[in-house]
Amino acid sequence: MQASDHPISDVQPLKRRSSRARVEKAEKLRDVRYEIRGKVLQKARRLEQEGHRVLKLNIGNTAPFGFEAPESVLRAVIHELPRSQGYEDAKGIFTARNAVVHECQRIGIPNVDVDDVYLGNGVSELIVMATQALLNPGDEVLVPAPDYPLWTASVLLAGGVPVHYRCDEEADWCPDLQDIKAKTTSRTKAIVVINPNNPTGAVYEYSLLSSLASWARQQNLVVFADEIYSKVLYDDAKYVPMASIDDDVLTLTFDGLSKAYHVPGFRVGWMVVSGALVRARNFIDGLDTLASMRLCPNVPVQHAIPAALGGYQAIFDETCPGGILYEQRNAAYESLSSIPGISCFKPKGSIFLFPRIDTNKYKIYDDEKFVYDLLMDKKILVVQGTGFNYPTPDHFRIVFLSKRAELFSASESIGAFLATYSQK
Ligand code: PLP
Repeated sequence: MQASDHPISDVQPLKRRSSRARVEKAEKLRDVRYEIRGKVLQKARRLEQEGHRVLKLNIGNTAPFGFEAPESVLRAVIHELPRSQGYEDAKGIFTARNAVVHECQRIGIPNVDVDDVYLGNGVSELIVMATQALLNPGDEVLVPAPDYPLWTASVLLAGGVPVHYRCDEEADWCPDLQDIKAKTTSRTKAIVVINPNNPTGAVYEYSLLSSLASWARQQNLVVFADEIYSKVLYDDAKYVPMASIDDDVLTLTFDGLSKAYHVPGFRVGWMVVSGALVRARNFIDGLDTLASMRLCPNVPVQHAIPAALGGYQAIFDETCPGGILYEQRNAAYESLSSIPGISCFKPKGSIFLFPRIDTNKYKIYDDEKFVYDLLMDKKILVVQGTGFNYPTPDHFRIVFLSKRAELFSASESIGAFLATYSQK
């Protein structure tokens, strides 16, 4: 048969749409932002490609600063690698989820069963999953300001409305309960509590958490407790798990290996659903559906969980006096605070400082431009405060994973930059 005889040769090609028709991103992404990896970071990458050395104090990425995983964690993953080739349980492998159950028992989250634990490719994936499972269009979620911006982004992506509640710098960055109460409406479905906090470094005390839990119970709010810095504590700060307070509140606790065990690249996190489970069967069914749709989390790295949680906790050596993180926190705090017009809260947890700039003194109106100009002039990369949904352009976030000498010299450069800086 000749090609031209074939019946299909009569079929006219579909008329192509105008070659100028643009491919647009989905409408639901319109307001979704993640400035931590935004335009200024792209510029920093370009500078690096041009051969500049940029000091990246923008994200909590431990590996480039020489922080390594405990050897026993690496060995556990390597040992299990050949047996990790197939899909596994959608919520995660039993041994890893069981290790999370034991961790909950240790820290005082009661009545957690293996089935209440979901493993994820980082806490990030689980935040997206939880907000997708809970929210209908227009549902409101109370999110802290400043926040870890994935929360605001995920609420928006799920069709919800993030309503930012104030964390008060004058009160050691504690959530303002009156503001939370004033902003709770009949559409409020959940409240996000980040403790220990990114970006402020605050650690909340029992009495505050208890007031938040009691408001959540009265208003029937789900609590999203992002506690990924639960083991990164300084001085006398004490971590109180939100889920340990009131078992009549439905609480989703998020934690993982990225920070305390220095393996953010492994993408390992967990979410524990606890408290008022009987009232949440339908929501939990939604979580199970979403967990199944991704088939399962990355299998080899799940084997890191029992090894990490059951092994030596080197993070406590790093955060106690004389420890590397403790000393670096002090270096960053002291050197930044000594810059005229900069004031900082001394972090009690996490790996970040969130300094305030006296914008009257320095005439700063656009904090993204400030961060961009600092990058261009001093090749230091930090993140603007408004990137954390903070309402005024007078803060920035800086990570203190760098060595002490480098932190002192970075602060000196920031001080020198500010001394001559003024925005039109
Ligand atoms: N939550 C907070 C408060 C964080 O700071 C981060 C990462 O920086 C995450 C969640 C995401 O962690 P993961 O690496 O487990 O996705």
